[in-house]
Amino acid sequence: MPSAIPTITHGPTTNGSGVIKFTNCLLVQKNDLIQGDLWISSISGKILNGQEILYEQRTAPDEIIDLGGRILSPGLIDVQLNGAYGFDFSVIPEEGTNAYSKGVNRVNRGLVTTGVTSYLPTLTSQRPEVYQQALPFLGPSGSPRNPAHGSESLGAHCEGPFLSPTKNGIHNIDVLQTPYNGLPTLQSCYGSLTPIKMITLAPELPSALSTIPSLASQDIVVSIGHSEASYEEAKASVKAGATMITHLFNAMRPLHHRNPGIFGLLGSTSHSIAQKPYFGIIADGIHLHPTSIKIAWHAHPEGLILVTDAMRLAGMPDGIYDWTNGSRIVKNGALLTLEENGKIAGSSIELVECVTNFLNWTGASVSEALKAVTATPAKMLGCEDVKGCLREGADADLVVLDLQDGLGESRREKKLVVDQVWKFGQKVFEKK
Ligand SMILES: [Zn+2]
Repeated sequence: MPSAIPTITHGPTTNGSGVIKFTNCLLVQKNDLIQGDLWISSISGKILNGQEILYEQRTAPDEIIDLGGRILSPGLIDVQLNGAYGFDFSVIPEEGTNAYSKGVNRVNRGLVTTGVTSYLPTLTSQRPEVYQQALPFLGPSGSPRNPAHGSESLGAHCEGPFLSPTKNGIHNIDVLQTPYNGLPTLQSCYGSLTPIKMITLAPELPSALSTIPSLASQDIVVSIGHSEASYEEAKASVKAGATMITHLFNAMRPLHHRNPGIFGLLGSTSHSIAQKPYFGIIADGIHLHPTSIKIAWHAHPEGLILVTDAMRLAGMPDGIYDWTNGSRIVKNGALLTLEENGKIAGSSIELVECVTNFLNWTGASVSEALKAVTATPAKMLGCEDVKGCLREGADADLVVLDLQDGLGESRREKKLVVDQVWKFGQKVFEKK
């Protein structure tokens, strides 16, 4: 992630119909890259039906953009991002919420230049007053449909504080809670549930299971994580309505052949649960061994979602930094650890780098790898008709990617590079 935030370059102004045609591109469709054209409107910010525009409406595009055989992908979606560019969603600055709001806007404008056009700003476990001050600024932010705002929040992800004290990872154990009274406990902690799109909780905590159906009925994704859940407990939570697993493998019991734990859900049959849950994977080369990722992908390819779990030190120089609640974090390259106990403390990787790692480690096709940051997270969030796809009527949030091939000693490595980013039908970033 660049340390300086590039300024957003506005797309070409179109004086006529506002119709733009991308040509000579490889479109990400299902599990393949398909040669074709894509039509969008810079006015509505939507993807258009090219056939209809050309033959029925007889409208010529205002602008034709030749991508020279590069990849045109839906904009990337990161469902777990704790902060970036020196800003942490979980910290209210001393200057107050005005400064907090400015920080969020800064992250949005920076993040979009990395190809991430929408995301879930993620809060680690905090005291109730932090949620109550922060959440009003983290709710869905796309309704003005203004490309200059940068990346769009699809709602907040509250990772905690209803987590297992023995699987807290870097979360401060003193602020963890038990949802004794179910939903009312959650409401009094977060203040309002309206800005929230996803909650990570440990389903084995007292009363946690009974809150899952009420959250699911309010379109809040319940994700299992930071949990001691056995396979049976995990399965019960999926039956109750949990549909996601937060950073699979990390902060949960490892796979045991006699008790497969949360990971075991990926091996469940349709007889025991209606649908296997989606699962987040941090493909940064630190949190997980590449082979673990491969196993999870082979077990449930349709469920794999790449996340960065990146935090505010992304893009900052190596050193020791103050963390929340008096702790300190050591940054050594991409590796971030808690000074007091050496525990992994999040990552500083960009989402497109996770896609590149995934490509090289699993042998997935480019389309399959991109699906893990586009169509699959969109489905998990229930917005697959407007985000994460190139279908007519979806938002024209797009990334132009250059696939560099034959890299590394083996000359078999690949790398995806973000060349352009489009948000709501307008170009907001171009690589120099
Ligand atoms: Zn976590």
